[in-house]
Amino acid sequence: MRKIEMVDIRTQYLRLKPEIDHAISEVLESSAFIKGPAVDSFRKELSDYLSISHVIPCANGTDALQVALMALDLKPGDEVITANFTFISTVEVLVLLKLKPVLVDVDPLTFNIDPDKIEQAVTPRTRAIIPVHLFGQPADMHRIQKIAGEHGLFVIEDNAQSLGSYYIDSDGKSKMAGTIGTSGTTSFFPTKPLACYGDGGALMTSDPYLAEKMEMIVNHGSRIKYHNDIIGVNSRLDTLQAAILRVNLRNLDDYISRRRQAADYYHNHLGGNLRIGLPKTGKGGTHIYHQYTILLDPEVRDRIREGLKEKGIPSMVYYPVPLSQQKAFTFAGYRTGEFPVTEKLCQSVLSLPLHTEMDEEQLDYICTHLLNLLKHE
Ligand SMILES: *Cc1c(COP(=O)(O)O)cnc(C)c1O
Repeated sequence: MRKIEMVDIRTQYLRLKPEIDHAISEVLESSAFIKGPAVDSFRKELSDYLSISHVIPCANGTDALQVALMALDLKPGDEVITANFTFISTVEVLVLLKLKPVLVDVDPLTFNIDPDKIEQAVTPRTRAIIPVHLFGQPADMHRIQKIAGEHGLFVIEDNAQSLGSYYIDSDGKSKMAGTIGTSGTTSFFPTKPLACYGDGGALMTSDPYLAEKMEMIVNHGSRIKYHNDIIGVNSRLDTLQAAILRVNLRNLDDYISRRRQAADYYHNHLGGNLRIGLPKTGKGGTHIYHQYTILLDPEVRDRIREGLKEKGIPSMVYYPVPLSQQKAFTFAGYRTGEFPVTEKLCQSVLSLPLHTEMDEEQLDYICTHLLNLLKHE
């Protein structure tokens, strides 16, 4: 059996080697490493894939969030509501921009931001909501857009983990995750659903004014070289990465169906065990299984994880600590007990290996050992 990895980038590369190598060597031969033609081709192809008018490539997903916020002209102290159960990027950029992160609890079924909690957190200083589409499925965008509309708030969708999933609204229309709010952001970090071989990211919006501003911000605030109109940053997508991303984008639907197949296998083989909480798909959402995250009794979770490791099965805890309890964030003064769902999830979640290259032998091995370990608990 092939060694089991959380994400098997190498096997995926070997399967697509001729295509990828060709794309890379084209860039090497052109030597157009910065703003080469592959960047614009990728921009166009991603906007077609997502059915959105504007895609702005940038250097990584954290920059994308920062640029999305910079483009909105918020004032220091303005409040931005976001989820407590996620990666640190969101809160990091808010603090850097002197905005006030207002963390709220998440939904226990989907692990995504809880719209009821958003409503309770809105104040006269609230300017924006950043829903994070966690683990492969969109947050409840219908409710979030409604709350935003009622209070005049911007919505920035952090879609680093769910590119390719879509959301079906109450009118039956479906929209790609990341294209529903004021703007969306994503990351092409090697483990993300649409990945490159280094760092990369992008913003998307259907607002031409915002798009132009974002494009300027990622280019030192300039439209014309050496003419800087506003304060920006240097955040470009590498041409080499864009060339790799074009190949991966062509394969994205195949990647998603491979992920779904592996998830189905887990569903079918773990579903009968009442001690395992399986991932649930929320109303209106579709799941691309960026992570396959199960829930276990906090009493046994870490022992099970150890037991799996002894059998050569990696697993991960995304995320072990609520943002509200991160050391870097103590100044905000949150207390333990304020976010019961997030706090419980941090003790119960376990993400199993799931990627585009899994075979049945590996999946069977993982399920057999997981069920066996639980039997002995
Ligand atoms: C990965 C990730 C980011 C950051 O992306 P980088 O490209 O690593 O900067 C932001 N938000 C979420 C939810 C992520 O998973």
